[in-house]
Amino acid sequence: MISAPSVTRKGPTLPFTIDWEDWFQLCCPPFDDPGALGRFEDRLERATEATLAFCEERGARATWFCLADQARRHPHLLRRIVGAGHTIGLHGLTHRRAFEMEAATWRASLAEARKVLEDLSGSALRSYRAPEWSLRGEAEGWWRHLPELGFDLDSSRAPLKVLGDPHWPRTVHRLGAGLLEFPPPVAGPPWLAVPLWGWALRLLPESWMRARLQGLAASGAGTPVVLHPWELDPGQPPLPSGTPLGHRFAHAAGLRSYGLRLTEILSGLNLVPLESWGGEGHGVSEL
Ligand SMILES: [Zn+2]
Repeated sequence: MISAPSVTRKGPTLPFTIDWEDWFQLCCPPFDDPGALGRFEDRLERATEATLAFCEERGARATWFCLADQARRHPHLLRRIVGAGHTIGLHGLTHRRAFEMEAATWRASLAEARKVLEDLSGSALRSYRAPEWSLRGEAEGWWRHLPELGFDLDSSRAPLKVLGDPHWPRTVHRLGAGLLEFPPPVAGPPWLAVPLWGWALRLLPESWMRARLQGLAASGAGTPVVLHPWELDPGQPPLPSGTPLGHRFAHAAGLRSYGLRLTEILSGLNLVPLESWGGEGHGVSEL
Protein backbone atom coordinates (compact mmCIF):
# COMPACT_ATOMS: atom_id res chain seq x y z
CA MET A 1 0.00 0.00 0.00
CA ILE A 2 1.17 3.53 -0.79
CA SER A 3 0.69 6.25 1.80
CA ALA A 4 -0.48 9.79 1.05
CA PRO A 5 2.27 12.08 -0.25
CA SER A 6 3.95 14.45 2.17
CA VAL A 7 3.41 18.15 1.55
CA THR A 8 6.17 20.65 2.11
CA ARG A 9 4.89 23.80 0.38
CA LYS A 10 3.83 26.81 2.43
CA GLY A 11 1.00 29.28 1.93
CA PRO A 12 -2.75 29.46 2.36
CA THR A 13 -3.91 25.89 1.90
CA LEU A 14 -7.02 24.27 0.51
CA PRO A 15 -7.71 20.62 -0.17
CA PHE A 16 -7.82 19.83 -3.89
CA THR A 17 -10.17 17.22 -5.34
CA ILE A 18 -10.60 15.89 -8.87
CA ASP A 19 -13.66 13.87 -9.88
CA TRP A 20 -12.21 11.36 -12.34
CA GLU A 21 -14.88 10.84 -14.97
CA ASP A 22 -15.16 11.30 -18.72
CA TRP A 23 -16.83 14.22 -20.52
CA PHE A 24 -20.14 12.43 -21.09
CA GLN A 25 -20.66 11.03 -17.58
CA LEU A 26 -23.55 13.31 -16.61
CA CYS A 27 -26.19 12.17 -14.13
CA CYS A 28 -29.04 12.27 -16.66
CA PRO A 29 -30.23 10.31 -19.70
CA PRO A 30 -28.79 9.22 -22.09
CA PHE A 31 -25.48 9.19 -20.17
CA ASP A 32 -26.40 7.38 -16.96
CA ASP A 33 -27.14 3.86 -18.16
CA PRO A 34 -24.55 1.08 -18.00
CA GLY A 35 -24.01 1.08 -21.79
CA ALA A 36 -22.99 4.75 -21.96
CA LEU A 37 -19.29 4.00 -21.55
CA GLY A 38 -19.22 2.25 -24.91
CA ARG A 39 -21.36 4.76 -26.82
CA PHE A 40 -19.40 7.98 -26.45
CA GLU A 41 -15.86 8.93 -27.41
CA ASP A 42 -13.35 7.87 -24.75
CA ARG A 43 -11.33 11.01 -23.93
CA LEU A 44 -10.35 10.19 -20.37
CA GLU A 45 -6.69 9.52 -21.13
CA ARG A 46 -6.06 12.92 -22.75
CA ALA A 47 -8.07 14.72 -20.07
CA THR A 48 -6.21 12.87 -17.31
CA GLU A 49 -2.83 13.74 -18.82
CA ALA A 50 -3.86 17.40 -19.16
CA THR A 51 -4.94 17.45 -15.52
CA LEU A 52 -1.76 15.75 -14.31
CA ALA A 53 0.28 18.34 -16.23
CA PHE A 54 -1.81 21.16 -14.75
CA CYS A 55 -1.10 19.85 -11.25
CA GLU A 56 2.59 19.26 -11.91
CA GLU A 57 3.15 22.80 -13.19
CA ARG A 58 1.69 24.19 -9.95
CA GLY A 59 3.19 21.72 -7.51
CA ALA A 60 -0.39 20.77 -6.62
CA ARG A 61 -1.48 17.37 -5.40
CA ALA A 62 -5.07 16.20 -5.15
CA THR A 63 -7.43 13.50 -4.06
CA TRP A 64 -8.80 11.94 -7.25
CA PHE A 65 -12.30 10.57 -6.67
CA CYS A 66 -12.29 7.65 -9.08
CA LEU A 67 -14.96 5.51 -10.71
CA ALA A 68 -14.35 1.77 -10.66
CA ASP A 69 -15.86 1.29 -14.13
CA GLN A 70 -13.30 3.70 -15.57
CA ALA A 71 -10.49 2.19 -13.51
CA ARG A 72 -11.23 -1.19 -15.07
CA ARG A 73 -10.98 0.38 -18.53
CA HIS A 74 -7.88 2.44 -17.75
CA PRO A 75 -5.86 0.75 -15.01
CA HIS A 76 -2.65 2.33 -16.32
CA LEU A 77 -4.13 5.79 -15.73
CA LEU A 78 -4.85 4.94 -12.13
CA ARG A 79 -1.21 3.98 -11.71
CA ARG A 80 -0.13 7.21 -13.47
CA ILE A 81 -2.16 9.25 -10.99
CA VAL A 82 -0.67 7.48 -7.97
CA GLY A 83 2.82 7.57 -9.46
CA ALA A 84 2.55 11.36 -9.82
CA GLY A 85 2.06 11.68 -6.05
CA HIS A 86 -1.72 12.02 -5.90
CA THR A 87 -4.17 10.14 -3.70
CA ILE A 88 -7.04 7.91 -4.80
CA GLY A 89 -10.53 8.32 -3.33
CA LEU A 90 -13.82 6.69 -4.30
CA HIS A 91 -16.47 8.32 -6.53
CA GLY A 92 -18.48 5.13 -7.16
CA LEU A 93 -18.73 1.82 -8.93
CA THR A 94 -20.39 3.82 -11.72
CA HIS A 95 -21.46 7.46 -11.92
CA ARG A 96 -24.96 6.66 -10.67
CA ARG A 97 -26.35 8.93 -7.95
CA ALA A 98 -26.52 7.34 -4.48
CA PHE A 99 -30.20 8.18 -3.86
CA GLU A 100 -31.22 6.35 -7.04
CA MET A 101 -30.18 3.05 -5.39
CA GLU A 102 -31.49 1.05 -2.48
CA ALA A 103 -29.30 1.60 0.57
CA ALA A 104 -28.06 -2.00 0.55
CA THR A 105 -27.21 -1.77 -3.16
CA TRP A 106 -25.30 1.46 -2.57
CA ARG A 107 -23.33 -0.08 0.31
CA ALA A 108 -22.48 -3.15 -1.77
CA SER A 109 -21.41 -0.96 -4.69
CA LEU A 110 -19.03 0.97 -2.44
CA ALA A 111 -17.46 -2.21 -1.08
CA GLU A 112 -16.97 -3.62 -4.58
CA ALA A 113 -15.63 -0.36 -6.01
CA ARG A 114 -13.26 0.11 -3.09
CA LYS A 115 -11.74 -3.33 -3.71
CA VAL A 116 -11.38 -2.65 -7.45
CA LEU A 117 -9.60 0.65 -6.87
CA GLU A 118 -7.36 -0.65 -4.11
CA ASP A 119 -6.34 -3.68 -6.14
CA LEU A 120 -5.62 -1.64 -9.28
CA SER A 121 -3.91 1.33 -7.61
CA GLY A 122 -2.07 -0.46 -4.81
CA SER A 123 -3.17 2.24 -2.39
CA ALA A 124 -5.58 2.25 0.54
CA LEU A 125 -8.68 4.46 0.19
CA ARG A 126 -9.92 6.75 2.95
CA SER A 127 -12.16 9.25 1.18
CA TYR A 128 -15.51 9.20 -0.64
CA ARG A 129 -17.53 11.60 -2.77
CA ALA A 130 -20.93 10.55 -4.10
CA PRO A 131 -21.64 11.42 -7.76
CA GLU A 132 -23.35 14.83 -8.03
CA TRP A 133 -23.26 15.35 -4.23
CA SER A 134 -25.96 12.68 -3.99
CA LEU A 135 -25.90 11.93 -0.26
CA ARG A 136 -29.09 13.99 -0.16
CA GLY A 137 -32.80 13.29 -0.27
CA GLU A 138 -33.37 9.62 0.50
CA ALA A 139 -29.63 9.19 1.00
CA GLU A 140 -29.09 12.17 3.33
CA GLY A 141 -28.25 9.99 6.34
CA TRP A 142 -26.21 7.35 4.54
CA TRP A 143 -22.94 9.02 5.57
CA ARG A 144 -23.42 7.04 8.82
CA HIS A 145 -22.43 3.90 6.91
CA LEU A 146 -19.14 5.31 5.63
CA PRO A 147 -16.93 4.51 8.67
CA GLU A 148 -18.02 0.86 8.67
CA LEU A 149 -17.20 0.78 4.94
CA GLY A 150 -13.68 1.97 5.76
CA PHE A 151 -13.96 5.69 4.95
CA ASP A 152 -13.06 8.41 7.45
CA LEU A 153 -13.22 11.36 5.02
CA ASP A 154 -16.27 12.42 3.02
CA SER A 155 -17.03 15.22 0.57
CA SER A 156 -20.54 14.41 -0.63
CA ARG A 157 -22.67 17.13 0.98
CA ALA A 158 -22.99 20.44 -0.89
CA PRO A 159 -24.37 23.35 1.20
CA LEU A 160 -26.53 24.54 -1.70
CA LYS A 161 -30.14 24.40 -2.85
CA VAL A 162 -30.95 21.64 -5.35
CA LEU A 163 -27.62 19.82 -4.86
CA GLY A 164 -27.93 19.59 -1.08
CA ASP A 165 -29.08 21.88 1.73
CA PRO A 166 -27.99 25.55 1.99
CA HIS A 167 -28.12 25.29 5.81
CA TRP A 168 -25.52 22.55 6.09
CA PRO A 169 -22.17 23.73 7.53
CA ARG A 170 -19.84 25.46 5.06
CA THR A 171 -16.52 24.51 6.60
CA VAL A 172 -14.86 21.21 7.41
CA HIS A 173 -16.59 19.51 10.33
CA ARG A 174 -16.97 16.21 12.10
CA LEU A 175 -20.26 14.59 11.07
CA GLY A 176 -20.02 11.76 13.56
CA ALA A 177 -17.46 9.57 15.24
CA GLY A 178 -14.82 8.66 12.71
CA LEU A 179 -16.00 10.84 9.81
CA LEU A 180 -14.70 14.23 8.73
CA GLU A 181 -16.86 16.10 6.20
CA PHE A 182 -15.31 18.46 3.62
CA PRO A 183 -18.12 20.57 2.07
CA PRO A 184 -17.33 22.12 -1.31
CA PRO A 185 -16.84 25.92 -1.27
CA VAL A 186 -19.85 28.18 -1.76
CA ALA A 187 -20.39 31.95 -1.43
CA GLY A 188 -23.37 34.23 -0.80
CA PRO A 189 -26.42 34.02 1.45
CA PRO A 190 -28.05 30.57 1.69
CA TRP A 191 -30.94 31.34 -0.68
CA LEU A 192 -28.59 32.77 -3.31
CA ALA A 193 -25.39 30.83 -2.68
CA VAL A 194 -23.28 29.95 -5.70
CA PRO A 195 -20.77 27.13 -6.01
CA LEU A 196 -17.09 28.04 -6.20
CA TRP A 197 -16.48 25.30 -8.72
CA GLY A 198 -17.84 24.15 -12.08
CA TRP A 199 -19.85 26.60 -14.20
CA ALA A 200 -19.57 29.40 -11.65
CA LEU A 201 -15.80 29.15 -11.30
CA ARG A 202 -15.58 29.13 -15.11
CA LEU A 203 -17.89 32.13 -15.68
CA LEU A 204 -18.14 34.53 -12.73
CA PRO A 205 -15.54 37.31 -12.29
CA GLU A 206 -12.09 35.84 -11.89
CA SER A 207 -10.92 38.30 -9.20
CA TRP A 208 -14.05 37.68 -7.11
CA MET A 209 -13.57 33.93 -7.31
CA ARG A 210 -9.91 34.20 -6.42
CA ALA A 211 -10.67 36.40 -3.39
CA ARG A 212 -13.34 33.96 -2.13
CA LEU A 213 -11.03 30.95 -2.34
CA GLN A 214 -8.10 32.86 -0.83
CA GLY A 215 -10.32 33.91 2.07
CA LEU A 216 -11.45 30.34 2.68
CA ALA A 217 -7.86 29.12 2.60
CA ALA A 218 -6.72 31.83 5.02
CA SER A 219 -9.46 30.94 7.49
CA GLY A 220 -8.68 27.22 7.41
CA ALA A 221 -12.14 26.40 6.01
CA GLY A 222 -10.95 23.13 4.49
CA THR A 223 -13.32 23.52 1.53
CA PRO A 224 -11.91 21.53 -1.38
CA VAL A 225 -11.23 23.01 -4.80
CA VAL A 226 -13.25 20.86 -7.23
CA LEU A 227 -12.12 20.01 -10.76
CA HIS A 228 -13.05 17.47 -13.44
CA PRO A 229 -10.45 16.35 -16.02
CA TRP A 230 -12.88 17.13 -18.87
CA GLU A 231 -12.88 20.78 -17.81
CA LEU A 232 -9.30 20.90 -19.13
CA ASP A 233 -10.28 19.25 -22.44
CA PRO A 234 -11.73 22.06 -24.60
CA GLY A 235 -11.71 19.78 -27.67
CA GLN A 236 -14.45 17.53 -26.35
CA PRO A 237 -17.52 17.02 -28.58
CA PRO A 238 -20.70 19.01 -27.90
CA LEU A 239 -23.28 17.24 -25.78
CA PRO A 240 -26.16 15.70 -27.76
CA SER A 241 -29.06 18.06 -28.50
CA GLY A 242 -31.43 16.12 -26.22
CA THR A 243 -29.34 16.84 -23.11
CA PRO A 244 -31.40 18.74 -20.50
CA LEU A 245 -30.62 22.46 -20.66
CA GLY A 246 -29.50 22.76 -17.04
CA HIS A 247 -27.03 19.92 -17.41
CA ARG A 248 -25.75 21.32 -20.70
CA PHE A 249 -25.16 24.76 -19.18
CA ALA A 250 -23.48 23.42 -16.04
CA HIS A 251 -21.24 21.18 -18.10
CA ALA A 252 -20.31 23.17 -21.18
CA ALA A 253 -20.31 26.85 -20.18
CA GLY A 254 -16.91 28.51 -20.02
CA LEU A 255 -14.76 25.54 -20.96
CA ARG A 256 -12.64 27.54 -23.39
CA SER A 257 -9.29 28.58 -21.90
CA TYR A 258 -10.36 27.40 -18.47
CA GLY A 259 -6.87 26.11 -17.71
CA LEU A 260 -5.41 29.62 -17.97
CA ARG A 261 -8.23 31.13 -15.94
CA LEU A 262 -7.93 28.47 -13.26
CA THR A 263 -4.20 29.10 -13.03
CA GLU A 264 -4.93 32.74 -12.15
CA ILE A 265 -7.69 31.90 -9.68
CA LEU A 266 -5.58 29.34 -7.82
CA SER A 267 -2.31 31.29 -7.88
CA GLY A 268 -0.70 31.53 -4.46
CA LEU A 269 -2.71 28.68 -3.00
CA ASN A 270 -1.14 25.52 -1.64
CA LEU A 271 -3.27 22.63 -2.88
CA VAL A 272 -3.13 19.30 -1.08
CA PRO A 273 -5.10 16.03 -1.02
CA LEU A 274 -7.86 15.72 1.57
CA GLU A 275 -5.74 13.10 3.29
CA SER A 276 -2.92 15.63 3.79
CA TRP A 277 -5.06 18.53 5.02
CA GLY A 278 -4.26 19.05 8.66
CA GLY A 279 -6.63 21.76 9.83
CA GLU A 280 -3.98 24.38 9.13
CA GLY A 281 -3.93 25.38 12.76
CA HIS A 282 -7.61 26.32 12.84
CA GLY A 283 -9.06 23.11 14.21
CA VAL A 284 -12.26 21.37 13.14
CA SER A 285 -15.75 22.18 14.42
CA GLU A 286 -17.59 19.38 16.20
CA LEU A 287 -21.29 19.03 15.49
ZN1 LIG B 1 -18.90 12.95 -10.76
